[in-house]
Amino acid sequence: MAIMEAPANTPVWVDTNRCKACDVCVSVCPAGVLAMKPEPTSTLGAMISIVASESCIGCTDCELSCPDFAIYVADKKEFKFAKLTDEAKARGEAIKNNNYRVLSA
Ligand code: SF4
Ligand code: SF4
Repeated sequence: MAIMEAPANTPVWVDTNRCKACDVCVSVCPAGVLAMKPEPTSTLGAMISIVASESCIGCTDCELSCPDFAIYVADKKEFKFAKLTDEAKARGEAIKNNNYRVLSA
């Protein structure tokens, strides 16, 4: 299996070919970085989306909990991650309360 190369200046990224839209990463992210977007071409009708990469704290919970190895987090030595803020926590809670879906603007 090919290891996906880290994109430059990106804290977290996804291999959409692997994502099964299970919501697990969204449920564990403490910083509201991830959410599911409607995706009509996917059999599950949704696809993982990075909605607030600037809030990623690099905890790696998403990567460690993804059953399909579809989400990756940058190395702490190579990326300066954010600190967890109240705003990020609140967005995470709102996304979870929104059935893991992206919040409408
Ligand atoms: S945990 Fe993995 S498979 Fe599930 S939604 Fe997140 S990236 Fe996709
Ligand atoms: S590394 Fe942590 S903060 Fe960043 S997207 Fe994954 S779960 Fe969220």
